[in-house]
Amino acid sequence: MENVLILDGSKVASEIKDQLQKKVEVLTEKGIVPCLATILVGDDPSSATYVKMKGNACKRIGMISKRIDLPKETTTEELLNVIHELNDDENIHGILLQHPVPAQIDERAAFEAISIEKDVDGVTSLGFGQTALGFGEYPSCTPAAIIEIIDYYNLPIEGKHAVVIGRSPILGKPVSMMLLNRNATVTTCHSRTQNLPQIVKQADIIVAAVGKANFVQGDWVKEGAVILDAGYNEGNVGDVDYDACFAKASAITPVPGGVGPVTISMLLKQTVAAAEKISVKTQL
Ligand code: NAP
Repeated sequence: MENVLILDGSKVASEIKDQLQKKVEVLTEKGIVPCLATILVGDDPSSATYVKMKGNACKRIGMISKRIDLPKETTTEELLNVIHELNDDENIHGILLQHPVPAQIDERAAFEAISIEKDVDGVTSLGFGQTALGFGEYPSCTPAAIIEIIDYYNLPIEGKHAVVIGRSPILGKPVSMMLLNRNATVTTCHSRTQNLPQIVKQADIIVAAVGKANFVQGDWVKEGAVILDAGYNEGNVGDVDYDACFAKASAITPVPGGVGPVTISMLLKQTVAAAEKISVKTQL
């Protein structure tokens, strides 16, 4: 396609952060500094990098980032105790438990322990359920980022056929629900899907959330499709074969600089929103 629109996530993220910085200033003047607590269990280097990036992004806009590092031997009970303390701490507005946690921990139990008011990463089943029903306040951040990018560029969702590749609880499933709530016709694909290329070929909107580098091929893409690549694989490579898909798409997110930076902005946005709620409550 000629004139392919590159969906510039870095630009979208930077505009969101500028707006948030002003909100943080207003809240800080009222004595409420939005605070995100991040919990990292173990020493996985990629997880440590993600947590550091999130913490730095908080600080850059004047928020507080409280980082809790726990040893890799941490038990479920110990982690739950930490989460309960954070739930009770009125200076903490959002809690992020970095996924994945070591195998001995019941990750689902840990996610469920996060109070819904502080579930700014949309990981609890209540948060997911609310998102699916269309009134979730804090959806999972990567799906929220995908919708944010589509809206920023005024790309239509209603009536379009969206094909989501991936069905993880933090990405494929919630983004499918969010697109459905916006009146797309949604097909969610996964590792047992048959005839995947033929299904993708019918898509007006393709969301790639597979976790496999360069997975979506150019000849799977219908001319003029909008492509959102949530993938982030080793070597800064997305789930979409960018050059081949670019040739077919009408709009596409690059990797890096697409969905990733907006995901972090959504985490900040949802934490600031949680802090604003406290501010409204304390004024009553
Ligand atoms: P995940 O939990 O591993 O889920 C991958 C999904 O892809 C699963 O539903 C799986 O199907 C499906 N899948 C695997 N192989 C497939 C195949 N051959 N055909 C069709 N579907 C297939 O991964 P995730 O956490 O959702 O992450 C997906 C990607 O997004 C990764 O690259 C990750 O790094 C990236 N990510 C990016 C951000 C960001 O901020 N940009 C945030 C989170 C994740 P089954 O369910 O059948 O196993």
